[in-house]
Amino acid sequence: MRAASIGCVWAACLVPGLAQAIPPQAPPQIAQNQPSSQNQAAQEFLNAKVARWRERLGLENWRISVVMAHRADLPPKTMGGIRWDKPAKSAVIWVLDPSEYRLSFREMLDDMELTIVHELVHLDLASLPRGQASRGSEERAVNSIARAMLDLDRKNP
Ligand SMILES: [Zn+2]
Repeated sequence: MRAASIGCVWAACLVPGLAQAIPPQAPPQIAQNQPSSQNQAAQEFLNAKVARWRERLGLENWRISVVMAHRADLPPKTMGGIRWDKPAKSAVIWVLDPSEYRLSFREMLDDMELTIVHELVHLDLASLPRGQASRGSEERAVNSIARAMLDLDRKNP
């Protein structure tokens, strides 16, 4: 387990994408833009999705927030990340800022939800031992679990 001084773990993720082991890095800066109405709508959507998936994954005792980040503020080739503090039971999930998306609003929200679910699966696995060698395997497993859960959810909303 690679833990920072205050017990935080930062997982930077390719979502969705080919698995790639990415070393933990300093967490990104939060996007400083003035929130547009689109950002606000996206933020509300994400807050609702986090509440829903947190419950489904049995993570109700965690305080989880979502912030938007620009690509330049995330580690290279990543589309999201999570940082958690296990003793404090708090986590922050980073998703790409809406301005980084070249999709329709609906498609963007779907992609953001995939990031949320993906990062929450990482959080669910937080009790397992983590090492550099298993990061690629974890990334692959997390990608397929998150996608399968979302596919099921969208078939049976
Ligand atoms: Zn990941």
